[in-house]
Amino acid sequence: MTVLVINSGSSSIKYQLVDPESGESIAAGLVERIGEEMGRVEHEYAGEETAIDMPVPDHGAGLREVLRLFEEKGPSLTDGSIAAVGHRIVQGGKYFDGPALVDDEVQGRIEELIPLGPLHNPAHLAGIKVARELLPDIPHVAVFDTAFFQGLPAEAHTYAIDRDIAEKHSIRRYGAHGTSHRFVSGEVSKLLGRDDLKQIVLHIGNGASASAVVAGKAVETSMGLTPLEGLVMGTRTGDIDPAVVFHLGREAGMSIDELDDLFNRRSGMKGLAGDNDMRIVEAKMDAGDENAKLAFDVYVHRLVKYIGAYAAVMGGLDAITFTAGIGENSNTVRRLVCERLAPFGVRLDGAKNDVRSKGQRVISTPDSTIAVLVVPTNEELAIARQSMEVVG
Ligand code: ADP
Repeated sequence: MTVLVINSGSSSIKYQLVDPESGESIAAGLVERIGEEMGRVEHEYAGEETAIDMPVPDHGAGLREVLRLFEEKGPSLTDGSIAAVGHRIVQGGKYFDGPALVDDEVQGRIEELIPLGPLHNPAHLAGIKVARELLPDIPHVAVFDTAFFQGLPAEAHTYAIDRDIAEKHSIRRYGAHGTSHRFVSGEVSKLLGRDDLKQIVLHIGNGASASAVVAGKAVETSMGLTPLEGLVMGTRTGDIDPAVVFHLGREAGMSIDELDDLFNRRSGMKGLAGDNDMRIVEAKMDAGDENAKLAFDVYVHRLVKYIGAYAAVMGGLDAITFTAGIGENSNTVRRLVCERLAPFGVRLDGAKNDVRSKGQRVISTPDSTIAVLVVPTNEELAIARQSMEVVG
């Protein structure tokens, strides 16, 4: 049995047909530039790649073309081999602490949560509606990025602002990347053979978040009401004094939309070093670029600060795991973070850290007080497995 995993973004749809048991990706593809004059649909199956440039006016048209390609190029989606369609949903608000079988009520909740996920939830909804219409005989499951963090202790998810306003406007820490944090922390438990671990997962890609997980349950995470809070990211500020908003509003006359754009799309590594691709920032730093060096220092500093805070929150720390584009690939970021943790007994095995691999691996020495690992994230597989939990 397989699961079709769908990730509908504002102007794109990514999909993958996954075997949830073996983890094998059987077919995959994407629809890009939905709503633009010319779009593109790509499909890959059994070594054959198909790419079609065509206008894709909306998500419905995109998904229809994907299903047509499945029937034309394979594998068939209508031969009864698909157990579920798993939909990635960014914002599940207070309603979902795990995956949910999609029905009209669940669809209504996702719609209700649009104000908390204005960029993502409308696209998810569009994807779900068309997918249910086109594949009506297969159960559809919604897998929420926020679900892993719904059970955070109140002291961790509550912001210290007026209670009535917070209640009225659903202000709290929801977190994000939860599917990845749940998957990676679960893999670490299996790898180290312990289900009582106090661990930190650093999901550092273009977006970046840290989580603290005790015995499989999340107790802290760095993203907040939205993915803006926390670590330094490709284009987002991460933590910043909210008074910067008031200051720039009053002194620079910037509007809320301009500030949103500045904080979410023109800050982070892009704002500091001129580029959000960490490979370019590293190359600039190696070439002596002072801005890139400072950006890198700020980036590593923030990571170290969160690790210290989370170790204190958990009252101990057994494992630190790096994942996502930067975590899996940048031996420099991993080395600089771990060097700063040497006073706490963290010992990185330099040779293991430098090995390039797609595999799960421990990169600390046997005498390190805290295990350091690299575990590639696989959100599609995680969504497929969670979908199977729901449909049995
Ligand atoms: P997204 O949040 O878009 O899913 P990814 O997890 O794909 O992001 O990560 C993208 C980031 O990973 C980019 O900043 C990219 O520069 C970085 N990255 C990929 N490979 C390397 C590498 N070898 N060294 C440093 N950074 C890398």
